[in-house]
Amino acid sequence: MSSSTNPTNARSERYDVVVVGASFAGLTFASVAATRGLRVLVLERDASVGGVVRTTGVLFSDVLDIVDVPQRYLMNSVRRMSIRPPNGRTIEIGAHAYRFYMADVTGMLRWMAEQAEDHGAEVRGGASFVDATREADGDMRIVYGAAAGDTSSGAGVDTDTAPAGPTVRREVRARFLIGADGTHSSVARRLGLDQNTHFLAGAEWLVEGVEIDRETFYLLMDHQLAPGYCLWLAPHSEIAALGVAGHQRTFKPTESLEAARTRFADVADLGAMRIVRRKGGVIPTGGRLRHVYRDDERGRVLLLGDAAGLCGAATGGGIYPALICGRLAAHAVANEVLNGARGAVRSYLGDLGRAGGLGPYLRVEDWLRAAMDRVGSNADMDAFYALFASPAGHELLERTLFQTPILGMNSHFFRLLRGLVAHQPSLYGSALRAAWDRMLAAPRSRIATSDA
Ligand SMILES: Cc1cc2nc3c(=O)[nH]c(=O)nc-3n(C[C@H](O)[C@H](O)[C@H](O)COP(=O)(O)OP(=O)(O)OC[C@H]3O[C@@H](n4cnc5c(N)ncnc54)[C@H](O)[C@@H]3O)c2cc1C
Repeated sequence: MSSSTNPTNARSERYDVVVVGASFAGLTFASVAATRGLRVLVLERDASVGGVVRTTGVLFSDVLDIVDVPQRYLMNSVRRMSIRPPNGRTIEIGAHAYRFYMADVTGMLRWMAEQAEDHGAEVRGGASFVDATREADGDMRIVYGAAAGDTSSGAGVDTDTAPAGPTVRREVRARFLIGADGTHSSVARRLGLDQNTHFLAGAEWLVEGVEIDRETFYLLMDHQLAPGYCLWLAPHSEIAALGVAGHQRTFKPTESLEAARTRFADVADLGAMRIVRRKGGVIPTGGRLRHVYRDDERGRVLLLGDAAGLCGAATGGGIYPALICGRLAAHAVANEVLNGARGAVRSYLGDLGRAGGLGPYLRVEDWLRAAMDRVGSNADMDAFYALFASPAGHELLERTLFQTPILGMNSHFFRLLRGLVAHQPSLYGSALRAAWDRMLAAPRSRIATSDA
């Protein structure tokens, strides 16, 4: 990558908060923080907000409690799910009310960025965070790479880091730094905070020429094709999304997606599908990170969203947690920075689990992940899904996925599970024991990596 030099040694711009990452967590934070009166700059490495989509964009209806997403970004409303175990009978569940939405992620993120700008935040694309240090006066000095033609102020120094093309280093100052830069957070790495260590890798093709029901998600379980997760076929506006996720480095996503052409044959003819877009990304599955905040000589910085491990470890659902933490953290940082309320950010960290049922939701997801990581074969998967074949098991699944709000996850999920076992103790007791024993017999298969 080439580089150029900006000889000017302009004085750094100064903000109250610099946010790294213009996605669900960063933009939610920026919008609320600016509304609270903070001077906010958002740095995004992609040239434009929402320009590169890595997520499928399935929204639980609970997301609407946090952000009133305009209808035009909820492309498909979903009220049915079809789950195919490797060899067992397909499980069909659903509800009359819509429970999930397939979002237009680019449109939604751009709308969120506009909201943040309307509230006074500045969003800068093509600006890739490089490093940050704390100065003697308490400010954070933040260095980022920008395209050489970008004339925004900041001291210019050569760099060969992202973004692509000729780049220069620029510098801004802020009283507080937010790392909302995703699973492999550079902010976490540079500032010595906790980093994610367990991951699922996901890949998705948007495909044309495939006719499927517009209100149904189709899930396919297969330990070889998608170890630790599943394949999916879902409506995506007028076309379809074909995706897969699994433990990183234990499967080949492209080969799995090719195999899916025939595995979904009874749902749709994928023989003639045309791939119009490929996306992929990494999902953190190790649970909520502990050391995500520091206010000391090294930095004054807080991680949000995936960077903080705030993602459902089993389903990979991270949009809801990102929105909640972004919103609440903004209030805490405003109180700490503008009102001088020492301890506001620590209180936020303590209270976060109580917001929107987030704590119990993440716990249930961790619990499911621990079970899923012990699935060692398709026989294990069949044993697990056989639990839901009876009317009572079917009802548990349907109520959990389609009727229980995230807010009620704790009480409802475990009450339903207890009810199920109590209802038919011999059947479920032995089936659960058998499934559990099989899983415990296999070593936990999730892969820990330390790469970034
Ligand atoms: C394949 C896949 C499918 C998924 N499907 C779903 C789903 O259907 N529903 C759901 O709820 N969740 C899903 N998730 C998870 C969800 O996408 C994330 O949990 C969510 O996007 C987290 O939001 P975030 O704002 O924390 O981080 P991200 O959305 O990851 O955003 C981080 C931002 O930081 C920017 N950035 C990174 N490094 C730098 C840097 N050095 N400088 C400047 N900017 C930087 C990135 O470009 C990006 O814009 C999926 C994830 C993947 C990978």
